[in-house]
Amino acid sequence: MSCELCTADGGTVLWRDDFCRVVRVSGEAFPGFCRVILARHVREMTDLAPAERDRLMRAVFACEEALRGLLAPDKVNLASLGNQVAHLHWHVIPRFEDDSRFPDPIWAPARRAGTRRASPGDAALARRLAELLA
Ligand SMILES: [Zn+2]
Repeated sequence: MSCELCTADGGTVLWRDDFCRVVRVSGEAFPGFCRVILARHVREMTDLAPAERDRLMRAVFACEEALRGLLAPDKVNLASLGNQVAHLHWHVIPRFEDDSRFPDPIWAPARRAGTRRASPGDAALARRLAELLA
């Protein structure tokens, strides 16, 4: 079985330890879009021991907190789907009321062109994550 999250980072790595990594998702439509990806191949949250679930969510919440501080989004979307890649990962997506899909999920058809926003730099985001996950 070939899994793209086992064989590649899946984005620019902003933070990592031996358990999980935070990567920046490229693209201008959703600035600050990050993913938290478990290091090993596991399908579901309930396949993890309770302490591991907590550890993974700690990284997800650090991501949310870092993005709120840097971008002040109207909403943060947290999503774990895994229908296409069944390797545990969480999407952490800053949302704005004038983005192209709001209030729909980002995977829905566009409603409007959407306002362009500057993205926080990778270095700033990486620094904040390192502080929060120290
Ligand atoms: Zn995998």
